Amino acid sequence: MKPINRRQFVRAGAAVAAAAAVPSRAFGQAPTVLAPKTVRPLVVCSANGHQYRNGGAETCVEKAFAMIASGRDVLDAVIAGVTLNEQDPLDMTVGFGALPNADGVLQLDASCMHGPLKRAGGVSALEGVKTPSLVARAVADRTDHHLLTGAGAQAFARRLGFEILPDLNTEASRKAWFEWKRQTDPLHYLDPEDREVAVRKVSLAILRRLGVEPEHAYGTINCNGLGPKGEVCGVTTTAGLAWKIPGRVGDSPILGAGLYVDNAAGAAGSTGRGEANLYNLSSFLVVELMRQGLHPKDAGLAVLKRIKANTIEKRLLNSRGLPNFGLNFYILNAKGEHAGVGMYPSRYAVCTENGAETRPVEALCEGRAED
Ligand code: ASP
Repeated sequence: MKPINRRQFVRAGAAVAAAAAVPSRAFGQAPTVLAPKTVRPLVVCSANGHQYRNGGAETCVEKAFAMIASGRDVLDAVIAGVTLNEQDPLDMTVGFGALPNADGVLQLDASCMHGPLKRAGGVSALEGVKTPSLVARAVADRTDHHLLTGAGAQAFARRLGFEILPDLNTEASRKAWFEWKRQTDPLHYLDPEDREVAVRKVSLAILRRLGVEPEHAYGTINCNGLGPKGEVCGVTTTAGLAWKIPGRVGDSPILGAGLYVDNAAGAAGSTGRGEANLYNLSSFLVVELMRQGLHPKDAGLAVLKRIKANTIEKRLLNSRGLPNFGLNFYILNAKGEHAGVGMYPSRYAVCTENGAETRPVEALCEGRAED
């Protein structure tokens, strides 16, 4: 990462006022996390945000941080960060070259929220556009709506001049899909229980061979930023669950599930099993708990506990009776406190004026999701 000119931090620097977090009495009340007037810029992101560079010099978090530090709009900055991953075929969980759905088609989901402007936008099941996060931003800025889906989302993108590619697969993603198809087709006639187990086994074996950790059968990038004036913004973008049923929409484009931002309280976004997140509307709940006064870490862990308690179906539990899926939250509050939390140990990315790094998440359960 390019060293940040100290002067770029003048606005963000020494004048950090002490902030107070006053627990409120009930949901629905006015925001009670009092943000200081100036804070130190910060970017918090899933670990892939400090892994890929799309052939350039910077990772997502480095790019986002540098833009925030130089005074750019925080949502522009975090989106500029994640578009590196969306366009990099090496990140097989996001955008171009990600793992496609069961028909071999890439259907992408994304959402974004601008805290200060109180704008939000999302797209789901979008085909042919490498950078769904930018289309989500256009939904937020240029329409009265919050979510466009499928063919309508693509037509919207086309009209705005986004390039529509006939196929977002790369050689590698196509090959992985073909292998999945070859191994799973004969299983489609089994009874639902056996099929579930068999398909899961085959999918995990293929992912392991690709060097993708099982918890990234789901894969996404969420990136949240805090600007020097306390501007909180976030973006989540994904190709969704590898080899999903065509038309399946996960948590990423759904406000409150894969992402939630409230400028007065903070931001939370997620990667991992989207269904668990949709069921619990988790990102909204994380932000709401921060509004009640909880630290990002405590808010995240409280929500993971709720998700764990709501996970009772046998097919979703491992031999220890714990959730057999990964789910992480990347969280910052309006004061600049932050955390990465996960159902199981993994890492997340952070960038401050001291540079970018990955750190271990606070994990609710020990070991791994899968036995
Ligand atoms: N949460 C995303 C989804 O379920 C996938 C992921 O984060 O791995 O679509």
